[in-house]
Amino acid sequence: MKNFDQRTIITVAPTGAWPSKKDNPNIPLTPSEIADDVYDCWEAGAAVAHLHMRDDQGSGTMSKDKFEETVTLIRDRCDIVLNLTTSGALDATDETRMAHFIELKPELASFDAGSMNWMHTTLFINRPDFLENLGRTMIENGVKPEIEIFDAGMIYNAMYYLKKGVLQAPAHFQFVLGAAGGIGGSVENLVFLKGLLPEGSTWSAFGVGKGAVPIMLATIAMGGHVRVGMEDNVYYSRGKLADSNAQFVDRAARVIKEATRDVATPDEARKILGL
Ligand code: ZN
Repeated sequence: MKNFDQRTIITVAPTGAWPSKKDNPNIPLTPSEIADDVYDCWEAGAAVAHLHMRDDQGSGTMSKDKFEETVTLIRDRCDIVLNLTTSGALDATDETRMAHFIELKPELASFDAGSMNWMHTTLFINRPDFLENLGRTMIENGVKPEIEIFDAGMIYNAMYYLKKGVLQAPAHFQFVLGAAGGIGGSVENLVFLKGLLPEGSTWSAFGVGKGAVPIMLATIAMGGHVRVGMEDNVYYSRGKLADSNAQFVDRAARVIKEATRDVATPDEARKILGL
């Protein structure tokens, strides 16, 4: 068995709540499109799939039925680790942000460790009482939080919740750099954020839009795990739309291997993350 420190987990985030077929016609939106796409990404080396759902008009939704349909299709075909969003629609209630993971028991779900202005247009609300309820409900259901960090203060919120028992160590963090309203997508910011983490944590990172490639390269160099996909970036390279999410996974896998590291399988990701 190789040293797990040399393994890098690729998470694919194929859809998100925002990009449309107008932004990139190859983005998967329906349960069957998402399941097919995730299967291709699993074959290309993705160990984790971070999933959002869309309603029949293509808008972000926390519909439990859509999650269930998609999760069933994926579980029938491969062993990829599932990570379900808890922040898939601005009009979601505390209940609809949790009902899907209570029923479907994914191994991971997102935990957004604070509130912020979102894309200069609206609010992304994660009230303290909601976060305490979310963390405790995840513990009760055996779902590990992927703590999403959009800005440095959110790490301090997470540390407070770790102390309070709302989150449990060792925690897993996902740094989101370059989302409008959050910290910018520079390598300097990534180094700063990583330095704030509680010892023993695992971490992953990605840059939104033009930060995607530099943050991926820096993250691999720093020993973190990576996330790629159209939730974060619909362009494969400058001015060229991605053909598929698997194209991003392929590139990440190539870079990891060139960096003389190994791409973690889903079962290796489970060991690394303590699932
Ligand atoms: Zn997401």
